[in-house]
Formats: sequence, structure tokens, C-alpha cells
Amino acid sequence: MHLTGVRQLENYIGGAWTTPSAATEVLDVTNPATGEILARVPLSGAADLDAAVNAARRALPEWRAVSTIGRARKMFELRERLVVRSEDLARSVSAEMGKTISDARAEVARMIEMVEAACAIPTTMQGRILEDVARNVDAETVRQPVGVCAAIVPFNFPAMVPFWFLPFAIACGNTFVLKPSEQVPLTQQLAFAELDALGLPAGVVNLVNGGREVVEGILEHPGIDAVSFVGSASVARIVYERAARAGKRVQALGGAKNHMVVMPDAVIEPTVEGILGSAFGAAGQRCMAGSVVVTVGDAHRQLIGPLIEATRALRIGDPLAQDSDVGPVISPAAVQRIAGYVERAADAGATVAVDGRGAREGEPGAWFGPTIVDGVTPTMEIAREEVFGPVLSIISAGTLDEAIALVNASAFGNGTSIFTESGAAVRRYRHEVQAGMIGVNIGVAAPVAFFPFSGWKDSFLGDLHAHGPDAVDFFTRKKTVTSRYFSSGEGSGSYFVER
Ligand code: NAD
Repeated sequence: MHLTGVRQLENYIGGAWTTPSAATEVLDVTNPATGEILARVPLSGAADLDAAVNAARRALPEWRAVSTIGRARKMFELRERLVVRSEDLARSVSAEMGKTISDARAEVARMIEMVEAACAIPTTMQGRILEDVARNVDAETVRQPVGVCAAIVPFNFPAMVPFWFLPFAIACGNTFVLKPSEQVPLTQQLAFAELDALGLPAGVVNLVNGGREVVEGILEHPGIDAVSFVGSASVARIVYERAARAGKRVQALGGAKNHMVVMPDAVIEPTVEGILGSAFGAAGQRCMAGSVVVTVGDAHRQLIGPLIEATRALRIGDPLAQDSDVGPVISPAAVQRIAGYVERAADAGATVAVDGRGAREGEPGAWFGPTIVDGVTPTMEIAREEVFGPVLSIISAGTLDEAIALVNASAFGNGTSIFTESGAAVRRYRHEVQAGMIGVNIGVAAPVAFFPFSGWKDSFLGDLHAHGPDAVDFFTRKKTVTSRYFSSGEGSGSYFVER
């Protein structure tokens, strides 16, 4: 491996690209499809985080003094810039994360939609007023920025997930510190180059590369007012508990185990297509990936043949090639972890109907082929835990009731889908199932910028979900003003008595 000339990444603090002062360690950023080292990322220390938080605090008064419409205009400009760079962003996502170029383009399109939603801030940030809560007394609620907001994000959506937070936070008048995943830090370097070109006051947005040390700093730093986290369930819990104990506003989106219920009346061909996209898109490394199919009654007999056949036909390979359906997983360590789940499921009595172990063996990169494990029972490890790879389990249920009970027994509740033509079955499912995102004949009920997104149960800790109207609630504080004036002669008297 030739390391000469491998770029070392910088942080973006106080409006300038900076070399981390305290970084003692540097990690390789690897293309998971080829094993090529793309760059080196510094693991910043407490001093770098401190510099970013101080820059963000200093920028608050100047940024808040920009009119709401002025901030929205910056979002319009950012949107245009990202559109121009969208192919570069998609190629960066594909290179560092491994998802196919079509998946990466879709991710960048979702990223840009987040900015589009933030363009509406002069409308969505409006408060409320009620005249005459008492005679000649008015009450109004206004929204104001929270302060310095930080986000900690995972590897699987290098472009989109940071933008679940950043555009809404700054459009609301906050300043921002982002810690990208140390496994995929490159795409945000491109995004921050575009943010830099906006000419925002120095310190409005800051990028601190690093790992655990930066996260722990964020959770304790007195200069940070709100924390958004997306990642695995175990880290989400640590982040939620520690940030809340430190008095911060916090939302922590965690892991998932998503079920797709297939009813006997489902239309098989599009159902198979929906399941494949959900289970194997991004090589199963989505928090919304369907990882268990629950067939109801006769659905198993109808589905299993076409599903296996279509899975075997998927082409695994270079994510930049137009004819690849499935790219690599994030790392060789992930290959081992995923294989362990499949092995233990087979040991527990399940049938490996399509086996992706050993795919492209001997070639560089981190490969795991699409895998179907049939005959899974609800108590098996593979039915309960998040695999986060291209592995689909199949469980048979007798009735919709049984399927709902099985889905609701999961510790997680991120997303779920039902495939059926029955409105009555959909109504029951939607009403009873315990999950935050529901797809009806849709394999991945993907985040929509203008609606809130998040799961339930162990998939989410906090109150306000990501983006949509919840983002405005999360990134603002409410202030209620009750007022009256005396010069007209009508505002005197007791406010309490004259209600
Ligand atoms: P991860 O939890 O390992 O890492 C997430 C972030 O936390 C990274 O920035 C990382 O640097 C940091 N981190 C990791 N370990 C830490 C520790 N011990 N202490 C402090 N910080 C730590 O997650 P990942 O592997 O990057 O991403 C995959 C996970 O993210 C999956 O579980 C997936 O379901 C979840 N995810 C959830 C959503 C959602 O919306 N609920 C969306 C995307 C991904």
C-alpha cells in the first residue's frame, strides 16, 4: 500500500480549516470495496473540541442578529451549491461507505431535501399569539435558538444523517459542532467546503473529526446546549444518559430490528422487489433495513421461491459500476461479525437458504453476499439482535395477530412494513404496531425531510424526533410573553380577576 501523498484530514473550526492540535492518533479511511486507503483522519482531542465550542459560542450573537429571512437565504444558497456538487458527494459516499452509486445518489438527494425543508424556516419557526387571554391582555409564544448544538453521527449515511440536524439547527439561529463518523469522514469535508463558501460568520458551523474522546467531551462540555446522536443502541443510551445528566437537551437515535410482514394477498413481484431493496440495499447497513420477513399463513409458500431466486440473481461488486446491486460492507471486522450471526443461526436449527459467506473471497475489500436464513424462530439470536449486514431472516406466523405480537415483542421499534392489498389489515397493523416508521407496500419507509423521523423503544431515546416540525421544536426554545398597555385606559384592573 502506497501511503505517500495520502491526505490527512483537517477540522473546520471558527471559519478556517485547522490541523488538530492535540491529535495523538490518526486512523486510515479505507475504501471498503478495494481496501485502498483514501485518507487519514485525526482523532481530535479535548482541546480541539474546546476550540470548536468556543468558536460556536462566540458566533452566537452575530448569527442570531441575522434576520430569519437572511438565514433562510443562506439555506437556499447552500441548496444550490450542494446540487452542483451532488455527483461528487455521491461518489464520495460510495467510495468511503461502499453503497452503490445509485443508493449514494439517493442519499445525497435526501440530504438536499433536508436543506430545502430548512429554507422554510421563516414559516416553520413562527410562534403563536392569542389576543384577549384577559380583557386587553395578549399572550404570545416566540421561538428562540437553543444555543450551541452538537451532532454525533454513524458511518452508514455519511451525507444525509449529519444533515438531519445541521441545516435546521443553523436556520433556527443556533451554531453547530459536527463530529462525523471516523470511518467515513470524507463526505463532510466536501459539504463543509460548500458551507465555508457561504460566508457565514466564523464559528456558525464547525467540524471536529475524532472518535470516542470527542463524543465524551461533547457530553460533558458546559458550552454545548443540545446534542443529537445517531448510531448503535448501546452508544445511544450512554449519550442520552450522560448528556441529559449534564443538563443538555438530547435526542438519541439508536439501532433497529425491522420486520416486514407479508400477508397471503400480497402481490408477489413488487413485494419481492420491495423486500430485496430493504434487506440488501446498502448491504443491509441501514437503520431502516428490513432484516426479518414475517410471512402470514400461505404467504410463505408463495413468497419463498421467487425471493430466493431474485436474491441469487443480485450482482455483488464494484459499487461504482452501474450493474452492481450490492456493494461491500464497511470493514473486514463487519464481515466476521455478520458471519458469526449466520453460523449461530444455522447451529440453532435455521436453514441458510442463500449463503453469502465467502463472497468474492480472496479479493481485496470487505464482502458479504446477500443471505437468506429461513426457518428462524422468534427466540433465536438472529431474530432478536441487529445484524447490520445483508442477511434476511424469515419467520412464519399463522395469523396477523401472531405477526403483530411477534413484531411488538422486539426490543427495537424503528421501522416496519406490511405487504398486502387489504385496507383492513393495514389499518390494524398501523394502529397496533409499536414502531416509529411504517411502510405499506414499501420496503424502506425512508425519512422524508418535511416529516419527523425516528423509532420507538430501544431505537430512540428522547422526545423530539429528527427533522420536519420536530427539528424546529428541538432547535428552538419557547418563550411566552403576556402583555398589556395602559395608555388607552383599557388595560388597567386585575389581570387575574378579570379573566
Ligand atoms: P456507532 O454507535 O458505533 O457509532 C456512532 C457514533 O458514535 C460515531 O460517531 C462513533 O465515533 C461514536 N462512538 C462509537 N462508539 C462509541 C463509544 N463507545 N463511546 C462514545 N462514542 C462512540 O454506530 P455505527 O456503527 O457508526 O452505525 C451503525 C449503527 O447506527 C446501527 O446500529 C444503526 O442501526 C444505527 N443507525 C440508526 C439510525 C436511526 O435513525 N435510528 C440511523 C443510522 C444508523
